[in-house]
Amino acid sequence: MRLVIKLAGALLDDPSTLASIARQIATLEQEGHELLVVHGGGKIFTSTLQRMGIESRFVGGLRVTDRETRDVAVMVLGGLLNKRVAGAISQAGQPAIGLCASDAGTFLAEPMVHNEVAGGLGYVGYLTGVNVEFLESLWRNGVVPVASCLGLGADGELYNINADHMAAACAEFIHADRLIYLTDVAGVLDGRKVLKAVSANEVEELIRHHKVSGGMVLKLEACKRALDAGVQQVRIVGGGLADGLLAAANGGKGPGTRVLPTAYPAAARMAS
Ligand code: ADP
Ligand code: MG
Repeated sequence: MRLVIKLAGALLDDPSTLASIARQIATLEQEGHELLVVHGGGKIFTSTLQRMGIESRFVGGLRVTDRETRDVAVMVLGGLLNKRVAGAISQAGQPAIGLCASDAGTFLAEPMVHNEVAGGLGYVGYLTGVNVEFLESLWRNGVVPVASCLGLGADGELYNINADHMAAACAEFIHADRLIYLTDVAGVLDGRKVLKAVSANEVEELIRHHKVSGGMVLKLEACKRALDAGVQQVRIVGGGLADGLLAAANGGKGPGTRVLPTAYPAAARMAS
């Protein structure tokens, strides 16, 4: 099975959570699955920007990324955090390699169009291609690729990509069977209850009724995109849950929220 696992930045700040996730990733690889790990930013990106006196402005949940901000993104996402994740998986017994977009040109990007201007948000992009042959050569050798959410543009510049959208696009480009989002909440919440399943056509309704907001909106949109592209199973799971990733990867009922391509009977969606 080919699997994309997206790790929330928040999960990388706690060593024991990261070690637990890394052990589960190593187990899945040893079971013979082909894994691609994509990770986000976390507090350390924001705090590094603050330490360097760089202020951020957000438009529609996306950080306006000037050259200085982009350079910090490369340092923190492509450097510190990427190596941290690859190190944790390698220490868990499975060799992993941290990849920034430019390495073997693995992840390609184009600047995002904002208000009809390409690059209107600065160095913010979307994923336009993946060097699948290179990833396959890693899988053949039992190496887990760990991607930071960056893409290499045709202009030779690196672009910051929203990690949720990057994971969905990766799942599309590598024809993944499953996409699992490990996040800092137990799943999609309705009040304090975790929804077992949400169908793609309910997403807009949830947004309109303010049941989901902030980062969860982007995540659900990314889930929808992956389903439209033919990914069979998409799930949002709490990253702090012991063995949550293994349970999610094994399919079935599993933990967290499944995002489903078609209407799903309301009774089956009852909170767990
Ligand atoms: P990630 O780092 O996994 O991308 P985000 O912070 O971008 O996480 O998105 C998850 C956040 O979305 C949650 O921590 C929560 O604050 C927010 N959120 C808003 N509405 C909901 C909801 N209905 N269920 C769960 N989380 C929600
Ligand atoms: Mg997010």
